[in-house]
Amino acid sequence: MDIELDSVIVRFGGEIGIKGEWTRRRCQQLLLRNLMSTLGQRKLVPKAITQKRGRIYLRTTKAKTTALELTKVFGISSVSPARQTSSDLKAITETTLEIAQTQVDNEKGFAIRCRRVGKHPYSSMDVCKELGKKILERLKNRNLRVDLVNPDIIISAEVRDKQAYIYTERLQGPGGFPLGSQAKVVVLLSGGIDSPVASWLVMKRGCPITPIYVDNTPFTDERTTDRALETAKKLFEWAKGFPRKTYIIRNGQNIQRIKEKAPKRFGCLLCKRLMYRIAERIAEREGAEGVVTGEAIGEQASQTMHNLRVLDDAATKFPIHRPLLGFNKTEIEKLARKIGTFEISTRRAKGCMAAPLKPATKAKLEMVKEAEEKIGITEMVEKAITTSETLDLS
Ligand code: ATP
Ligand code: MG
Repeated sequence: MDIELDSVIVRFGGEIGIKGEWTRRRCQQLLLRNLMSTLGQRKLVPKAITQKRGRIYLRTTKAKTTALELTKVFGISSVSPARQTSSDLKAITETTLEIAQTQVDNEKGFAIRCRRVGKHPYSSMDVCKELGKKILERLKNRNLRVDLVNPDIIISAEVRDKQAYIYTERLQGPGGFPLGSQAKVVVLLSGGIDSPVASWLVMKRGCPITPIYVDNTPFTDERTTDRALETAKKLFEWAKGFPRKTYIIRNGQNIQRIKEKAPKRFGCLLCKRLMYRIAERIAEREGAEGVVTGEAIGEQASQTMHNLRVLDDAATKFPIHRPLLGFNKTEIEKLARKIGTFEISTRRAKGCMAAPLKPATKAKLEMVKEAEEKIGITEMVEKAITTSETLDLS
């Protein structure tokens, strides 16, 4: 039977660790708040919390589930389910032996690692030597060997002041900064592969998101809408405790108008410029600081470096952020899998039927603006805003 793990080590050194005192404290507070919302929602509230520099130690009867849940909290670099004991070397040895009994199989190579902060009558090296020696002695009949280069298992002791934590597992967190440590942004979320990944990347750096989905029905269908809302829900799994407000913009009539009244090759550019304008209005209403899209250089005709400038011209009040600008498709897909949106984004759905066969890759800005005058862009934005709907995706 496994030894009962009673603690979780939460690490958040990295970039947070090198910030000035004030920023570091604020990040830690936010991290703790987000961690508690995450665990609270899963009914995993810890029994006790100890905060130290670069670490939060949790006491819990559900160490493994708690640790797993925390791998989705931004700012956390890694977590380890652990067994707590006192920093007395004898206690550390006993606990480590108990763990080794259940975790180290016959004939295996093992390594001991120790990390120590505080005043103790021994060094980290002393701990490693003592633990290695005792394991070999006590588990003699298992034919174990110390292997520091390519061990089958690593047993780690983290000694922090009067406590010590013994563990064998380290789960990777997303790193970055706690959600809420940066200003909110709105994201143009289509539900395709790219825009959810772009959203996640800004969340990772601390920005809470408000998604905007532009519903192009009848040029797309309800599967396209479901897909977008499902990706938004998936993103919100990384944002426990934050609002889940999502905007839906009814855009079918606008597209119809663009199709009827504007040069075909400008169709996508006009549609995107319209989306930017709508997004700016919502950003203003929501008190957000920017608009995020999933565009990457050259990924579509509307995303040539030239056309990105044509698009940018439509945004007058907010920066358009494109976290994927330099990403290859395979890199984006890899991230989408990790986030959990890939499977949703690749479900069958109707692609936009209004997209022209020969879109402009180098549109003349003046001509695009003329076309906008003709279709009555200002009215279209107004109508889109007044008919917009919001959903709470809880
Ligand atoms: P994605 O994979 O992100 O859906 P895409 O490859 O289909 O994008 P485009 O259609 O050119 O590329 O869209 C570029 C960006 O415009 C998207 O990443 C997204 O930010 C935004 N966008 C496109 N369609 C919509 C939509 N229906 N609703 C909201 N935003 C959209
Ligand atoms: Mg794309």
